[in-house]
Amino acid sequence: MSIQTVGIIGAGTMGNGIAQACAVAGLKVVMVDIAEAAVQKGLATVAGSLDRLIKKEKITAADKDAALARIQGGTDYELLKQAQIVIEAATENHALKVKILQQVDALLAPEVILASNTSSISITQLAAATSRADRFIGMHFFNPVPMMALVEIIRGLQTSDATHDAVKALALALGKSPITVKNAPGFVVNRILVPMINEAFFVLAEGLATAEDIDAGMKLGCNQPIGPLALADMIGLDVCLAVMEVYLKEYGDSKYRPCPLLREMVAAGRLGRKTGHGVYAY
Ligand code: NAD
Repeated sequence: MSIQTVGIIGAGTMGNGIAQACAVAGLKVVMVDIAEAAVQKGLATVAGSLDRLIKKEKITAADKDAALARIQGGTDYELLKQAQIVIEAATENHALKVKILQQVDALLAPEVILASNTSSISITQLAAATSRADRFIGMHFFNPVPMMALVEIIRGLQTSDATHDAVKALALALGKSPITVKNAPGFVVNRILVPMINEAFFVLAEGLATAEDIDAGMKLGCNQPIGPLALADMIGLDVCLAVMEVYLKEYGDSKYRPCPLLREMVAAGRLGRKTGHGVYAY
């Protein structure tokens, strides 16, 4: 099946980023959100992001206008009927996603692929809530979508080869470098990344080195662009803690126990950049 129009549910951080990536690649986009204000904010974010690309001479003003003209925003799910694939990028809440997916599942033609950009919810479980489990898949983009090359393609237990192949072709058409992953908590990247961050908190709590030296060590010794503690401040310490708690529960393995210092900082409201203070003060 050839994909000409991509439907996106949610015009937030990820939804508008996915919309931009698709529109720049020449695809038509329909992006829906619950409130018109959210749609307008999403479209304005895309316009601002394209302006920065013009300044960097990566695209021309005409490219920007053409890309924006390919994105139609709105609050009516009926708009999604134009799409050959619909990517759900709404708020990370299991019950909400099931409700949204069942609503669009009932609306879309049977051959349309449904994908979710969820970071933590089981693709197999979401697929099972729809009538098209074999045409359901995880398409996990990274933030900021226009900049980040990776897409994790997550196969639920029921995902068909045809669905996988179509979504992989779409990711490649967007200029991304996809990897294929079986469904499991954290998929691949966050499964490795978040326990590493948690371990950095243990190293800090044990007083083995200062936060600055831990981050310098991982930057200079492992070629990481940013140290794990500074990264935790960017992601949000509450998010890191919640992810570790999911792994501990789902895998039932004590190696995923959250570091008590991480818990303490979250309890204190030191959540990172978003609260002005995490491991570091901003
Ligand atoms: P966000 O809060 O920026 O955007 C979510 C949007 O969904 C909001 O605009 C909200 O109004 C909209 N929404 C809520 N209910 C809706 C409904 N019923 N119908 C349509 N739209 C609805 O969140 P985000 O950071 O863009 O995250 C979206 C998804 O992407 C989540 O599943 C998240 O786990 C995942 N994700 C986020 C990141 C990240 O770094 N932010 C990275 C990878 C994946």
